[in-house]
Amino acid sequence: MPLSAAASAREILTGLHDIMGARGSAQSKLDKVVDLIAEKMGSEVCSIYLLRDNKLELFATHGLRKEAVHVTRLRMGEGLVGTIAAEGRILNLAEAADHPAYIYKPETGEERFHSFAGVPIVRLESPIGVLAVQHADPRRYEDVEIEALQTVAMVLSEMIAAARLVDGARRSRLRSAGPLRLSGLKLVAGMAKGHAVFHEPRILVEHTVADDIEAERERVYSAFRKMREQIDNMAKEAEFGVAGEHQEILETYRMFAYDEGWSRRINSAIDSGLTAEAAIERVQQRTRARMRDIDDPLLRERMHDLEDLSNRLLRIVSGWMGTAAQTGLAHDTVLIARNLGPAELLEYDRRRLKGVLLEEGSLTSHMTIVARAIGVPVIGRLHDIRHSVEDGEMILVDGDNGSVIVRPNRALQSSFEHRMSLSQKRRAEFAAIRNLPARTVDGVEVSVMVNAGLAEDAASLPMTGADGIGLFRTEFQFLVSATLPGRDRQLRLYTKVLEAAGNRPVVFRTVDIGGDKALPYLTDEVEEHAENPSMGWRALRLSLDRSTLMRAQARALIEASAGKVLRVMFPMVSEPWEYEEARALFEEQVEWARKGHRKVPKKIEFGAMLEVPSLAEMLDQLLPRVDFISVGTNDLTQFLFAADRSDPRLAQRYDWLSPAILRFLKRVLDQARKAGVPVRICGEMAGRPLEAMALIGIGADKFSITPAGVGPIKGMTRSLDAAAIKSRMDQLLAKPPKDVRKALTDWAKRHNVTIG
Ligand code: PEP
Ligand code: MG
Repeated sequence: MPLSAAASAREILTGLHDIMGARGSAQSKLDKVVDLIAEKMGSEVCSIYLLRDNKLELFATHGLRKEAVHVTRLRMGEGLVGTIAAEGRILNLAEAADHPAYIYKPETGEERFHSFAGVPIVRLESPIGVLAVQHADPRRYEDVEIEALQTVAMVLSEMIAAARLVDGARRSRLRSAGPLRLSGLKLVAGMAKGHAVFHEPRILVEHTVADDIEAERERVYSAFRKMREQIDNMAKEAEFGVAGEHQEILETYRMFAYDEGWSRRINSAIDSGLTAEAAIERVQQRTRARMRDIDDPLLRERMHDLEDLSNRLLRIVSGWMGTAAQTGLAHDTVLIARNLGPAELLEYDRRRLKGVLLEEGSLTSHMTIVARAIGVPVIGRLHDIRHSVEDGEMILVDGDNGSVIVRPNRALQSSFEHRMSLSQKRRAEFAAIRNLPARTVDGVEVSVMVNAGLAEDAASLPMTGADGIGLFRTEFQFLVSATLPGRDRQLRLYTKVLEAAGNRPVVFRTVDIGGDKALPYLTDEVEEHAENPSMGWRALRLSLDRSTLMRAQARALIEASAGKVLRVMFPMVSEPWEYEEARALFEEQVEWARKGHRKVPKKIEFGAMLEVPSLAEMLDQLLPRVDFISVGTNDLTQFLFAADRSDPRLAQRYDWLSPAILRFLKRVLDQARKAGVPVRICGEMAGRPLEAMALIGIGADKFSITPAGVGPIKGMTRSLDAAAIKSRMDQLLAKPPKDVRKALTDWAKRHNVTIG
């Protein structure tokens, strides 16, 4: 190569700019482009192949026989050119004929040439063509020459798309890709159909050639600075478990964000004449190409982190930092993300959001709970989903089975629609029984309430057929709000909820913030680094320390319940004194209201949530002081098993139907029954028919569950003989088999219990 790579690439870019700006057909421009590249790179052959009707057609060449233009066509994957396009990889060969994919096309006259280098021409991560150079001497091209070729390919892709020489980058891949079936972890059941939307949209690089290289350098420099700041902040916020990102990912982000090699490569791409956006994308393409050759899954995983970061940098540099929620959803949407926080999910338009697909995610994370509450099916642990789907592609979500079909054909779509209508029918059947009592065949009454947290949930309470709201998560209001909701705003919500509930009871839980329920406006208060946010300064611990917050909430709840019964409970009570302190705070507020001649509730029922195992050891002290106990199995399980509820790697590891959990719960239920204190199970566990059946078998008769579970749980209860399951559970817990779930499923089938 006569000039330095950057200098020759820059000369080519300037030349390309002139060619593009001049008059002439697209074909004549491409002819000039290959001449220009051959001359500036000092190569004997330069050819451009473009994807047309799924074939790579020789569109222009300098050095090969002209008769071959528009005649030589290769399938994706065929020959060297087809391999480059199909695998998105770079080939750099001293002896082309030695490569296993080499095929000889006589019309081109290429037998004279020994060395070969080719790079894919890519648009929106899809190959649209190949740019190749050849030499008579057997030689390998230097890295800098390959980089120059990539830079040119990058600019060419813009020009090719603008001239509409290919059918469209996305469609070309779509056609070749066909339907794709994936399976993941079922997080929220339900079926949905919609178009793929990325939570963090990808940026389409529009302008590739820089007008002012210095200015581009400056743009990248400040984008890097901003990105590093963001990552550092995210790491700080992780103390509160921000947006579901995990510590490990943040560490990798940080490592890449400060990686000198990465910024150097971007800068040298800018030196060759690219805009900041194009340079970031060019370097990313190169990384992607290298990634394809890596076998190590761990390393590939890390490469995805770099990809995330590269997209972030691209978004910062192009000034578009928002999520898809800010742009609004244009049609029925299946949202795709690595992970989502509960607040991020709530930003989406619920009429259009039909499903969520995540690469991570776990069953009891708050984002999953929120999705369940608003009835959006979610599938998690879909490995690499963000790289298997294109923006706008049709997706079928089968949340009942944890499977997804991307780009379905007509047959797949119609069978899915058939199943969807069956599932709707099943829902209609549940709807028909939802107002019937949840009474077992042998006459045991089970109380079924729902978990809620938004004003809309309360409004739809009568339609759920539930006996009331057994857990109103007051922190949801805090999560969806940009600023801390004051007493008045809280008062308005609680009043509305109580009005909507009418005669049905509502159990308010005081705020449970912290853990994975991050509040951006409160994170500053956390000074020390929290290694385990869900076991950290959260829920009642935080409320007792920030008593102003708790006092404002107490006043709002007391005022909203004036003249009525106020039912209130405290989350994450670990020892009885915490409960006593919280209760005393409420009682002081009642006193204060009385003194001010304000109306107060006619009665207050106080309860404690049992979700930290230590409390179970103190029940003898606690039970005489409470009106009720509410068991939060989501947290309880994570603490009993020492298994982080939001860690996707542990999502399937521990079973709610394990003897450890069931024996633990049975002891609590027995002890509370003896003390005459009602116990309600309000974690996600109780909303699943098989689990609820086991719970009835250990003596539970009060549940608070997700609204969609009311029909199925009532259906199960109405087909169950409580005495029979009790004796079966006694046997199973006395001598547990290896797989309690299987034993219970078999039992339910044998006894015709409707478990769905
Ligand atoms: C629980 O932990 O089971 C519970 C109901 O509370 P949350 O899921 O809101 O932490
Ligand atoms: Mg909890």
